[in-house]
Amino acid sequence: MTDDRNIFIVRCGEVALKGLNKPYFERMLVERIKKMLKKYDGAEVKRHEGLIFVRTDKSFSKGEIIGQISKVFGVASISPAVEVETDIDKIGEAAVKVMLELIEEKGVQTFKVEAKRADKTFPIQSPEIGRIIGAKILIGCKVLKVDVHNPECLLFVDVRRDKSYIYEQKISGFGGLPLGTNGKGMILLSGGIDSPVAAWMMAKRGMMIEAVHFHSYPYTSERAQEKVEELASIVATYCGRFKMHVINLLPIQEEIVQHCPEEETTILVRRFMMRIAERVAEEKGCTMLITGENLGQVASQTAEAIVVTDASVKMPVMRPLIAMDKVDIMAKAQEIGTFETSIQPYEDCCTVFLPKHPTTKPKIEKILESESRIDVETLIETAVASKETVNIFPQD
Ligand code: ATP
Ligand code: MG
Repeated sequence: MTDDRNIFIVRCGEVALKGLNKPYFERMLVERIKKMLKKYDGAEVKRHEGLIFVRTDKSFSKGEIIGQISKVFGVASISPAVEVETDIDKIGEAAVKVMLELIEEKGVQTFKVEAKRADKTFPIQSPEIGRIIGAKILIGCKVLKVDVHNPECLLFVDVRRDKSYIYEQKISGFGGLPLGTNGKGMILLSGGIDSPVAAWMMAKRGMMIEAVHFHSYPYTSERAQEKVEELASIVATYCGRFKMHVINLLPIQEEIVQHCPEEETTILVRRFMMRIAERVAEEKGCTMLITGENLGQVASQTAEAIVVTDASVKMPVMRPLIAMDKVDIMAKAQEIGTFETSIQPYEDCCTVFLPKHPTTKPKIEKILESESRIDVETLIETAVASKETVNIFPQD
């Protein structure tokens, strides 16, 4: 019986390097791909001989399926393929058919066959398979020529035990590790460019995420929060639904403005953000905090400021963007689809009560002295207790 579904070969990236844990990582990856393709009825995802094979009904667009699979962390590349019985004549016929389609769709004129024999019991060796299939293509497609150096189409022929596969594209995924293989982290998510990228980068290493967002309503608008929810839902297209805890920071900001030196406002507010996030993280089983901080980007991200910010919490703080240049962060934001939303101009709680000359070299002793003028613990507890939780779903 012929299988008339669309077939995609999915290659694992780093997952393939895992030693004894490899089956675990592969299983997780299969589960993640299944989840991503849940809405495509009848989609089948199976491991076989070190590869993952996805089969979907022909009624679903191939491009759409590839787009979905490429969002799964741990996927190195994807090839829409043609499956054929492992028989040199049948492989030849199928290859001719593939090439005829490519001539029609893309006007391909030159090609090269790259054959690989995964099944070493197959009686013909790889270079010879390449030559035989190449010759069959030349006979079947009169307009084509072989170009071994710079072919317009590199046709891969992967000969395996029962079935063989023919494909010409290898579409890159993001690599990384399957979600859920590296615990859960709490991202401090603003409406800016950086923090959504930071969340994405940690998720790419297999970390599940949950988020906290701070606002200063009514100084910040409801629309500003909607923007953050929109950003979160773009991140969720990669890492699935997650929870975002929304907290009004205004009471704390007012307390700081009233009792502490103006130039320390930003750094003091940041220390509160971290401590509140740490409490929520502990409550929710997160093992790390994640921020979009980037060395030297603004006054609160100088080396000195980061040291003082870090000293407010015990939980490890991941700063995946720390050494990146802004242009590269922006390019990443473009690539993952958050940039356009991030640059919409809405106020952020950090810009409320912005000091004229924020300190760039805070000293921990001075900061602790300033904090002794306010009731830090009660402020944190009240803020944590006031949190509202929003469910973030992947954007369509
Ligand atoms: P971003 O582009 O992510 O907003 P930024 O360059 O504006 O970053 P800051 O405002 O100093 O930098 O914030 C540094 C980090 O602190 C952010 O990347 C984010 O992790 C966290 N943060 C800032 N504002 C908020 C907020 N309103 N809610 C939650 N986290 C925040
Ligand atoms: Mg910001």
